[in-house]
Amino acid sequence: MGVSPSASDQRLTTMSQAIDSRPAPSEANPFHIAQRQFDEAAEYLDLEPALRELLRWPRREYKFTIPVRMDGGGTRVFHGYRVQYNDALGPTKGGLRWHPEETLDTVRALAAWMTWKTAVMDIPLGGGKGGVTCNPKELSEGERERLARGWMRVMARELGEHRDVPAPDVYTNPRIMAWMMDEYEVITGRSHPAVITGKPLVVGGSVGRDDATARGGVLCVREACRRTKVNPRGTYAIQGFGNAGQYAALLHEDILGGGKLVAVSDTSAALHNPDGFDPRETVDYKLRNGHLAGLPGSREISSDELLALDVDVLYPSALENVITETNAGDIKARIICELANGPTTPEADEILNRAGVHVIPDFLANAGGVTVSYFEQVQGTYNYYWTLDKVHRELEANMVNAYRAVCKMHDEQQVHMRMAAYLVAVARVAEAVKIRGWV
Ligand code: GLU
Repeated sequence: MGVSPSASDQRLTTMSQAIDSRPAPSEANPFHIAQRQFDEAAEYLDLEPALRELLRWPRREYKFTIPVRMDGGGTRVFHGYRVQYNDALGPTKGGLRWHPEETLDTVRALAAWMTWKTAVMDIPLGGGKGGVTCNPKELSEGERERLARGWMRVMARELGEHRDVPAPDVYTNPRIMAWMMDEYEVITGRSHPAVITGKPLVVGGSVGRDDATARGGVLCVREACRRTKVNPRGTYAIQGFGNAGQYAALLHEDILGGGKLVAVSDTSAALHNPDGFDPRETVDYKLRNGHLAGLPGSREISSDELLALDVDVLYPSALENVITETNAGDIKARIICELANGPTTPEADEILNRAGVHVIPDFLANAGGVTVSYFEQVQGTYNYYWTLDKVHRELEANMVNAYRAVCKMHDEQQVHMRMAAYLVAVARVAEAVKIRGWV
């Protein structure tokens, strides 16, 4: 099955507090989790106290209001965010989520993970994240455009290809990036294709950006199967069927040379078919209907049953805190490829590690997206665009190198894969901070 970025693929969209230093173990606040993970790595690396304090907090954060004229005549005020977590390795980089449960703390966590993500990939960028608390499904096209432009009007002076470069994430898409770039260019009076990535091709997007997150994850799975001797043509399940989950379904068999997609889920349903779903038909059904419920040939199961299926590869591809201490013990997958950001809580992590599951941690597994965003930024900056073949070759080289660097650390230090990824990433950022003379 060939997968190329066709017009229909462009329709795949991502429609898919003050912190105390020792949060309670059951804490599900993603920023507490991000800080706990960092603290463990800092301890392991024996970072000095000032460096630790600098890296466990965002360098800058913006929280603001965005008034939007609604179609019905009134004005609604939305809450927007941008966190520029760390820019020691380069301009901050990271997506924008439009989600009803977005808070400053979710954005902080995601901005921290972006910092470790660009660092583990060894690309010259820092980490940032932004968002708006809203339910975009309830907004008209015009309201979404005014919200996108309103966000950019507040943030424009703090962004730029040499400062901070946003991109799509959950419930934002290339169209929204185009409106934002356009607003930025209206404000600055200049062309700035590299101020934002994940744009439509016609306004300076990169070929291969649309499926890059999933492609990077599936490439890691290919490497992981070789390393752990798991059957690459075995079974796989996908939890979450937005942009990353849909493309993972389409790419898995191509990249691994076979496989059987036995379960899929989205917010409408979790579905099982031991004989295997056809990935293309499943994606087409989701695109036609907007949800998976009712997919022919499937049996409905619970989300926890999906996570507990006896599969070779499990792709958590939705949001944070899906694999927790209550369901981690039931997981039978040999490899977990975290296409979502933060799907596994630290307590669940320990259970998975004890069980010997090979976890490809989120900020490695889903780094293909930001890597091709970086390529898009490079192309936009010198205004010359690459072929799909070149994007794929460069992405593959970057992913394989990063996966191997993490495995090397895992073998040398005898730490689990997430900690190995943290050690690689945090050491790189710490070195840049020190060499710049910040601490
Ligand atoms: N939102 C994606 C992520 O979490 C992509 C970020 C980017 O392309 O800058 O990695």
